[in-house]
Amino acid sequence: MEMSLRPVSELRKDFAASGERDFYEWLSKQPEGDPYGGVPQKPPSIVKQVASLARAISDHAKHGFASCSEEELKARNRECEECSLLLPSGRCSVCGCFMKIKATWAEQKCPIGKW
Ligand code: SF4
Repeated sequence: MEMSLRPVSELRKDFAASGERDFYEWLSKQPEGDPYGGVPQKPPSIVKQVASLARAISDHAKHGFASCSEEELKARNRECEECSLLLPSGRCSVCGCFMKIKATWAEQKCPIGKW
């Protein structure tokens, strides 16, 4: 049976209410086990992070450092908040970017096409 992943926003609330200090240790103690099925939820390698950041900055410069609209930003933030690939630190585990910043840049895209 395939287990659906709980959005990180829900996990964060439960973790905050637990009073525990280590998110990953807390995850492993959940009744259903680690809802991520043992898949480490970490940022990508440093090399990939540097490459993603360099590409994002270059694209942003090419587009005149334009910001997206309020409406678009809300929609992007909503997608990220509900995404199981968002780390508790607010970084995307696919690209490693801090989504509160990257989502404001007009030309940026979710690396898996959610926005
Ligand atoms: S950018 Fe995409 S993959 Fe990354 S956290 Fe947001 S919705 Fe998820």
